[in-house]
This record gives sequence, C-alpha cells and structure tokens, in this order.
Amino acid sequence: LLEQRLHETVLEINLQAIVHNLKLFQRFLKPGVQMMAVVKAFSYGSGSVEIASLLAYHGVHYLAVAYADEGIALRKGGIRLPILVMNPEPGSFQAMIQWNLEPEIFTLTQLRQFVREVQQAQQSGFPIHLKLDTGMHRLGFEPTQLPALVEALLQMHPYIRVASVFSHFTASEDPAQDSFTTQQAELFESMSQQILQALPYRVKRHLGNSAAIHRHPQWQYDMVRLGIGLYGVDSDPEIQKQLQPVATLKTTIAQIKHLMPGESVGYGRAARIEKPTTIATVRIGYADGYPRRLSHGKAWMLVHGQQAPTIGWICMDMLMLDVSGIPDVREGDEVIVFGEALPIQQLARWADTIPYEMMTTISQRVKRVYY
Ligand code: PLP
Repeated sequence: LLEQRLHETVLEINLQAIVHNLKLFQRFLKPGVQMMAVVKAFSYGSGSVEIASLLAYHGVHYLAVAYADEGIALRKGGIRLPILVMNPEPGSFQAMIQWNLEPEIFTLTQLRQFVREVQQAQQSGFPIHLKLDTGMHRLGFEPTQLPALVEALLQMHPYIRVASVFSHFTASEDPAQDSFTTQQAELFESMSQQILQALPYRVKRHLGNSAAIHRHPQWQYDMVRLGIGLYGVDSDPEIQKQLQPVATLKTTIAQIKHLMPGESVGYGRAARIEKPTTIATVRIGYADGYPRRLSHGKAWMLVHGQQAPTIGWICMDMLMLDVSGIPDVREGDEVIVFGEALPIQQLARWADTIPYEMMTTISQRVKRVYY
C-alpha cells in the first residue's frame, strides 16, 4: 500500500475476475480433464506468485512457465503444484531438478543432457514432457524422429518418466484455419500413440490452448493449457462477452497547461497548436510499456470518463493528453489507460499488435495492486 502511494501509476488486478474466467473455462471441460494454467511472463503481466496461489486454491492441476527462473520464483513463493518449463535451457537443468521443475523436452540432445543431470543428482523417475511438432514448427520432435526418441526413452527409463506428450496449435482460434487445426490434431493422435504404445506406464496427453478448449473440445485429451482466457481475453465474441476484464492500468495527471496557437507540445515540436488547447501531462510513458507508436492522437485515455487523445510524442516516463473540452480537469486526477471501459483489445488494435503483447509488456516498474 505504501508503494502504491509512492507512485500512482498502477496495474490493478481483479482476482475475482480471474476466478470467474477460470470457472468459465472449467465448465467447458469434459469430465476428468485436468487444467494446466499458463503463468509464464508474470502470468501474462498480472503477477506470478499471487496468481499461481490463487489458481492453486481454485483447483488448477498444473502450471506452465517459459523459463526455469520463472518456475524457481514460484517455488520460492511457496507454490507446490507441478510446474512445466516450456523452453528450458541446458544451463538451468541442474537448478530445475533441485527445484522440482519439469522440462519440456524437444530434442534428443536435450533429453540426453537432462538425463545426465538427473544421474548426477542421483535421482530417478524425474517427470519430463515431450513436445511434438505437429505444424507450428517452433519447438518439438518431428514424425521421422520418433523411432530414435522411443529407443532413447526406453534406454533412459529408470532416470526419467514421461509425464506427458503434447503439442501446440498454431491457429486454434481461427475458423479459416480449422482444416489445418484438424490436420494438427490427427498428426498429434498418431505421433502420440507411437510413444504411448512404446512406454510401459500411463502417459498424459494435452494439446488445446484457450481457444481450443471451447472451439475444439473433442481434443481436450487428459489436460488443457489455459492462458489468455484466464486474463479475460478471447477471440470469440460470444466467449468474450462472458469473460471479465482482469487488468486496469491507471495513472494520474502531473500538470495541466493552457496553450495558444503557435506553441508546440513535447519533443521535436511535433504537435503544433492551432487553437487554444488544454493539455494534461500524465505519469506514464514508453518505459512503462505504453507504446510510443500511440503518439500523435493514435490512442486516447479516459479522463473523467471522457476520451482524451495523446498529443505529441510519448516520452519515456510521461505523455501528454489533449483534455480540451473536458470540464474541471485538475492536477492529480485519475486517468484510465485501459480497463473495463477501454478494453486492452482496443489498445492492441491501435498499436497494431495483439492483447498478449500489450499485457506482457507493461513494465515491472508499474506496481501490481490486487483486489
Ligand atoms: N501452450 C503453449 C505451448 C503456449 O506457448 C501457450 C501460449 O503461448 C499456451 C499454451 C497458452 O495459449 P493461450 O494463451 O492462447 O491460451
């Protein structure tokens, strides 16, 4: 609370909204299907331990992060759920074993390196997760590599246990790509079967991300991986209506100025004043993750519920809004950068990007406040 008072630019996170969104997606699950929550990149910008604890309390079975240090931060915060690390580096294998973090394995070299570390740590049966490339062509084993993979797995059997086999859709949200999505699912079925049949124990399978959970429920398998939906965003308008926005980015006005024709605003004199104009300098800039490409009126913020466009270049720690015509605007007044009345999706469209990027690039300087 003290920190919040020291700096008035905050990202408010509505924990109740996260629970609401989780429950909505849980209702789409077929009986017995488990939920993995994707909490990489500070839970898409909303926090790490805070969100993971909430999700653990509300019945999520597994967590996923991108890198080992994200998983270690969760363990240090007391999170005991199993954690999948989706892009682990060989240099982090030893620490992952120590902190009980489960690697995604996508090459044979990586499998051998990991097994060596397990041997060195004198452990056995350490859970790993095999990633199959079914068309995303990012990470994962390809169909021709499966025989060698199966052989290696059988040799390394005492040291590791394949906890799951999984793949990732490239466009599960896009009806125009449904035939490709089907192709991916069919390839996953046949590739994963080869591994399941070769191993003498039960192995879980998972494939679907947020959009696939409701658009392709036939491929939920044993578990789904829910990311963006938790944080209140979905590309299907019907689902979007049922989700609650999670994050509100707020700041305040530092100073108000009244400018006359012939004057200019900000760096490079880029905004020239042609009629009497009132501007408000607000406490957020590109160092906070507000995109500089939204300068010169390409976006607006809400001041007293009214639209105030950006004017001039956005600076590192501040930007100027044109508040002409908004009555009674005072220094210290609150400014909504995005939130319920100005969805993050709108901001992403203005910035020519996707909500994922907007969410994850709000910098760590901006305090997260939970309610
Ligand atoms: N699974 C993997 C492998 C991912 O990389 C991601 C996110 O990028 C997800 C699941 C979650 O996807 P979404 O946020 O679309 O639910």
